[in-house]
Amino acid sequence: QGDRKRSRAKIAHLTFDDIGGQDSAKKELKEALDFLIHKDEIAKLGIRPLKGILLTGPPGTGKTLLAKASAQYTNSIFVSASGSEFVEKYVGVGASRIRDMFKEAKLKAIKEKKESIVVFIDEIDVIGGKRDGGQHREYDQTLNQLLTEMDGIHTADSPRILMMAATNRKEMLDSALLRPGRFDRQIQVDLPDKKGRFHILNIHAKNKPISIEVDLNKVAAESYGFSGAQLESVMNEAAIYAMREKEDNIHHKHLSLAIDKVMMGEKTDRESTQ
Ligand code: ATP
Repeated sequence: QGDRKRSRAKIAHLTFDDIGGQDSAKKELKEALDFLIHKDEIAKLGIRPLKGILLTGPPGTGKTLLAKASAQYTNSIFVSASGSEFVEKYVGVGASRIRDMFKEAKLKAIKEKKESIVVFIDEIDVIGGKRDGGQHREYDQTLNQLLTEMDGIHTADSPRILMMAATNRKEMLDSALLRPGRFDRQIQVDLPDKKGRFHILNIHAKNKPISIEVDLNKVAAESYGFSGAQLESVMNEAAIYAMREKEDNIHHKHLSLAIDKVMMGEKTDRESTQ
């Protein structure tokens, strides 16, 4: 439990090329990140520095991957946590955990001689949901602490912080989070189209023995509506089917079975939660 709760500070070695599809999200994101890279020109023009980027869209579409790649692109330390990690029974614990996360990240950046930090919070809606006038004091304090950290003054010798967060329930967010100087850039990360699915399948096929008879374009057509995470599962399940049949390579039949399995799995999950 203790380990899971602790934020994870590390350098991410994942680039935008490791993320399939999402061309417009990647383009928008890189444009925003270039603001961070060319901070001196930005300052000369009197442009307000970029503080926060919100990634919105369905689960499993690569929001976490995009945040990691952003850290790599800007040569930053990457620190991540999920909103639910800050939810505690006792008032003030969530807030102090936020404080610790930023403190830990700053120390790490100094140690590793990095000028900037990407702090990524997944499921931001858990702590950044609309405030309802004192009903959830614990959540309020956590959110306030996050806002305080985001508003923190940047001094010449402290690392610059770029906040990134993800949600699939943007309409739930408190408006304080979306004000200028907070998460003022929003990037939509949608389910991949056929070209995107083909690209993602290729990425996850790289370390697998795929039979030459397999046409991944066909697999992309058969997996309409799948997220990147589901496509990764398809590749993995197909390899398991091949192993069960004692085959050395993954054939199209294994991929078709895997598509059905992932689709059915989702259905069963949904039914059991209804
Ligand atoms: P959630 O909202 O559920 O946190 P997410 O949008 O952050 O999801 P990720 O955690 O980035 O999704 O993706 C989960 C896994 O799915 C990745 O580790 C990767 O294996 C695969 N994946 C998702 N999207 C892509 C993509 N665009 N390209 C390649 N792999 C992907």
